[in-house]
Amino acid sequence: MTDQKTDLLGLTPEELAAFLKELGEPGYRAGQIFGWLHGKLAASFDEMHNLPGPLRVRLQETCEIGGVSIEKRLASSIDGTVKYLYGATGGDFVEGALMRHRHGNSLCISSQVGCRMACAFCASALGGLSRNLTPGEMLGQVYASARDLASGGTEIPDKIGSVVLMGIGEPLDNFENVCRFLELLSHPEGFGLSLRRVSLSTCGLVDGIRKLAKKNYPLTLSISLHATNDEARSRIMPVNRKHNLADLMAACRDYFAKTGRRISFEYCLICGENDSPADAQALAALLKGQNCHLNLIPLNSVSERDFARPDPAGVRGFQTKLEQLGVSVTLRRELGADIAAACGQLRRRANDNK
Ligand code: SAH
Repeated sequence: MTDQKTDLLGLTPEELAAFLKELGEPGYRAGQIFGWLHGKLAASFDEMHNLPGPLRVRLQETCEIGGVSIEKRLASSIDGTVKYLYGATGGDFVEGALMRHRHGNSLCISSQVGCRMACAFCASALGGLSRNLTPGEMLGQVYASARDLASGGTEIPDKIGSVVLMGIGEPLDNFENVCRFLELLSHPEGFGLSLRRVSLSTCGLVDGIRKLAKKNYPLTLSISLHATNDEARSRIMPVNRKHNLADLMAACRDYFAKTGRRISFEYCLICGENDSPADAQALAALLKGQNCHLNLIPLNSVSERDFARPDPAGVRGFQTKLEQLGVSVTLRRELGADIAAACGQLRRRANDNK
């Protein structure tokens, strides 16, 4: 059965060596296989032509490589954004999106099957959490899309320049797996993506932020803020009832003090909820003194949710007000408008069709 197979993608070179030693293989095999998996992005053991045939057969029978495949690919005809529906072990689906920027391609991947954070505006939260993704399944998303790009599946052979953990799930709710994923993704003998090219977004799990600070990874931490006072934030983000804004902002200040890495705050603009001039004022006051950047995201409406985005003039007005108040702020460019059901919607549709 597939779920009993050992996923070699989630193993460090040292663990791979120990695993292969058990099979009676010489020490150098681990380096060869790690190189095939994380450097050449092999999708099958058949490709590993410098391994002895019987070993390849044995690995094929007892092991897997991430267990993630691309089930569906939707490409935007407007800007080349690609949305991926990935299939994982056990018939689960998650989502990713490849966005094309002037400075390169960035791939957004999922960290969990579903999510238990229950944010009121988010499609990924509908249906709750099914399970955590393993490190191999997170790498599997990156490598499947990297292979897709390299094979010209998206017109121009191309590569992934950065990875963002902003798809389905709450990465800090799957802390250990996410850390292992990051360490394998950036391993110099493997894919070797610098963690400077990785962003991790959290809804504000304070304990997780503090644990992440101790890791001192050079990644960019994004905080989904979305409101400026506890009453409003708890209404749309239940996590705030456990970790209030004062605790969250203190954890952010400590994160910066420890890592020296500027935090990026995300603020999703929801019409009538958090987009008034008074909200802009309160937001500027909240961020005052933080070494940070603010990213405004006009809400993607989700059919099951009763929220709307402000009109373009409202969005512009909110941004201008913040600029006048001295906040470093950008507006997230909308990509893939013709394909981008808000994150989590593709998976919902796939599940409905099961
Ligand atoms: N759980 C993490 C990462 C996943 S969501 C987090 O909360 O940060 C990635 C970002 O998309 C978050 O800022 C999230 O609040 C935002 N988001 C979720 N649903 C959205 C929607 N319908 N429109 C716009 N942004 C949304």
